[in-house]
Amino acid sequence: MKLVVASNNPGKLREFGALLAPLGCEVVPQSALGVAECEEPHLTFVENALAKARHAAASTGLAALADDSGLCARALGDAPGVHSARYAGDPKSDRRNNEKLIADLAGVADRRARYVCVLVFVRHADDPQPLIAEGEWHGEIIDVPRGKGGFGYDPYFFLPDAGRTAAELDPAEKNRRSHRGQALFLLAERLKTSA
Ligand code: IMP
Repeated sequence: MKLVVASNNPGKLREFGALLAPLGCEVVPQSALGVAECEEPHLTFVENALAKARHAAASTGLAALADDSGLCARALGDAPGVHSARYAGDPKSDRRNNEKLIADLAGVADRRARYVCVLVFVRHADDPQPLIAEGEWHGEIIDVPRGKGGFGYDPYFFLPDAGRTAAELDPAEKNRRSHRGQALFLLAERLKTSA
């Protein structure tokens, strides 16, 4: 099966391709098929991922896979949440997003946060039963960044069980533990058992 991925992020495309190849799926990025980026206006990860998957399927006539992800901080009422990529406004900037996160948490004792990833697979644009998989990764936000790996909020996302931040993990370890890795694993299981 050929399927379109509603993402242009090379890292994500590599991960999706590696996971889906053994299932006989050939993964094509939506940019290679001339699909424009879709709006993400919704309040939940699952609604945004579904909108992206439907849009890619409708534009190409192919099955489609989309993800939506972000960071939810407990003390901030789960912000930045679906607004993680542009928490500090346009244009997107990891540096400014992290500065805002640390400023918003100044003097706050509760540092618990989780990364969330929701993956949605649709067989076609009108699929009445999308396959949905979700992953969560729990950690704590620290004030001083550590590590050079990963991206986004990773240098501030500390994992008490590992004694390191997400940016201090090597890529394979991050993929094994992360919200995206967990969601991908669950989605692959669903794909294997669905006709
Ligand atoms: P998107 O799902 O590509 O739209 O990602 C949303 C935003 O959430 C990213 O721009 C990052 O700010 C944040 N995010 C999602 N996953 C991760 C991660 O694994 N590490 C760091 N930041 C992440």
